[in-house]
Amino acid sequence: MTPRDEHKWRQRAASLDWLHAVPDDVLIDMVLRDCQCAWIFDPGEAPELSGEDEPDRELAARLCAGCPAMDACLELDLRIWGPRTTGVFGALPEQDRQALYPYWAARRSRRRPTGGGDMQ
Ligand code: SF4
Repeated sequence: MTPRDEHKWRQRAASLDWLHAVPDDVLIDMVLRDCQCAWIFDPGEAPELSGEDEPDRELAARLCAGCPAMDACLELDLRIWGPRTTGVFGALPEQDRQALYPYWAARRSRRRPTGGGDMQ
């Protein structure tokens, strides 16, 4: 990972700090209420990741562009699946969320949630 990548993931992890105290059930409500992917694709019709970084990154960005639930979706995925994540959440393919996860987890270990639980 390059220093530029590290900076990018540090910044993205920090951008989720506003959600640190939001309980899991509220996050779920936020995502269910605002997600745009639920009405774009019928079940089973969503495009699949290729396993290659750039096409997957572009696909994720396209799928989630403008989604009002983006931060909540990403926060929820990191809480629930952590490094075991798969698919697209929060405009990031799984390889990017796996890269982001250690930075997010380090910030969370310093800022214990006051209202949320750990669903892992
Ligand atoms: S950020 Fe993407 S995966 Fe998450 S709810 Fe929005 S459209 Fe769906």
